[in-house]
Amino acid sequence: MSASSAPVIKSNFEQSFLDLRGKVERRFGKEASLVISQAWEFAKLAHHGQLRKSGEEYISHPLATSQLLYDWGLDPTTIVAGLLHDVIEDGGATTSDLEENFGPEVASLVDGVSVVSNIRLLGSREAVFVESLRKMILTMAHDLRVVFVKFADRIHNMRTIGALPREKQLKIARETLEVFAPLAERLGMGQVKGVMEDLCFKTLHPKEYKELKYLVLEMSGRADKNISKMSRKIQADLKHEKIESHVSGRRKNTYSLWKKLKREEIGGDVTKIHDIVAIRIIVNTVVECYAALGVVHKNYKPVPYLGISDFIAQPKPNGYQSIHTKVFGEGGKIVEVQIRTQTMHEEAEMGAAAHWAYSEAKHKGASDKDLESGKIKVGDSKLAWVSQLVTWQKQLTDSKEFLNAVKFDALSHKNYVFSPKGDVYELPEGATPIDFAFSVHTQLGHYIKAAMVNGKIVPLNTRLISGDVVSIIKSKKPEAPNKNWLDFVVTNQAKKGIRRMLSA
Ligand code: MN
Repeated sequence: MSASSAPVIKSNFEQSFLDLRGKVERRFGKEASLVISQAWEFAKLAHHGQLRKSGEEYISHPLATSQLLYDWGLDPTTIVAGLLHDVIEDGGATTSDLEENFGPEVASLVDGVSVVSNIRLLGSREAVFVESLRKMILTMAHDLRVVFVKFADRIHNMRTIGALPREKQLKIARETLEVFAPLAERLGMGQVKGVMEDLCFKTLHPKEYKELKYLVLEMSGRADKNISKMSRKIQADLKHEKIESHVSGRRKNTYSLWKKLKREEIGGDVTKIHDIVAIRIIVNTVVECYAALGVVHKNYKPVPYLGISDFIAQPKPNGYQSIHTKVFGEGGKIVEVQIRTQTMHEEAEMGAAAHWAYSEAKHKGASDKDLESGKIKVGDSKLAWVSQLVTWQKQLTDSKEFLNAVKFDALSHKNYVFSPKGDVYELPEGATPIDFAFSVHTQLGHYIKAAMVNGKIVPLNTRLISGDVVSIIKSKKPEAPNKNWLDFVVTNQAKKGIRRMLSA
């Protein structure tokens, strides 16, 4: 199939495409706009006569997908792959058609997306699921852009999910919430994760979604006057200090509010949640972040105990950086203020995608073997998690073990705990000081005598929570682990380490 010799097909979405092409040309130049035109014609031909379940022309879907990819700041190749992402799956084209027309990079990207799309993540037999997941992780490690295209594809599918039968809606929403949203979070793509979660929440719990959406609007309306008064005051003070800033309000996404309301200590009481509306200050440099913190605290006192989190000095393991401070705002109401630089802001919203754009995460031609052995890392340290997953999927031959590693170590709720020096460690829910020791270093696991949490000696099966400062009191000589430890440790690393030591 060749696009150049084919008749030109007209679509109702011609104008939307021209808008996108104009933007691509302004950002990337003439050559990129030519390729994207060629991809548009190719995709229209491949999907000719096909309709979405909503009755719209099929081409509306790849177009929306590539628009998202453009908005996320990705390169022309990814945008082109967005337009073409369903031509193999649904349009009858082959990989060699793509290679002929668009070169090997686009072809392998689209191929990767098709692989991932064929993966039935939920509801399949476990063995099949595990094999699929392995395949997905490897595909992703070869070229992270596959995942970005998949995210955009999924978001547009979620936005148009209303036309599908209810049962299918639930299945897709659950898969998105359990696999893709946590994956986006792990890749530091906060914005994408938030959008996915709210779309899933709306589908899975329409009634609660509506109620909370209304509540957030009402609360931000009421809070608005105070928030804008505070924002103006902060901005004026920053100007006085000659700090250029952008101050705005941000609303919590509906799903994370719902989850927070369900926490035990909150017990459904909205008045206990202080960050439904927060003030966000964006400045140019790190030094200005701390200066801005001073300016905020001069007018608004920090709330004792809730106080300040400095994720600039101690970034979250997914790379998130910002200073958060909870202060007594106008009228004594507690308000959260978030301070960050423009670069931190982009990384918090777009994470790996922002990073991908300027890092060497692209290792063309790396073999599966090189990736699995960890010889070739997937991008820089911010993408360490992807590298780790790839090595694991090779090492963990038992499918149960692998599934647990992926599900519980990587995709479950995380605790952030600190070493006495202030290094951050990320541990799954229920992790104990022993899990901590093994995640610091396998060697440390051999010298566990006792553990201290927040300065107090605690039993080794204590469940750690976010914010705990954990230190291991070391024995003089290597100690054999207690077999009982296996009953309460939760990380794979600890389990493997203990088993290895017991069998030694
Ligand atoms: Mn699609």
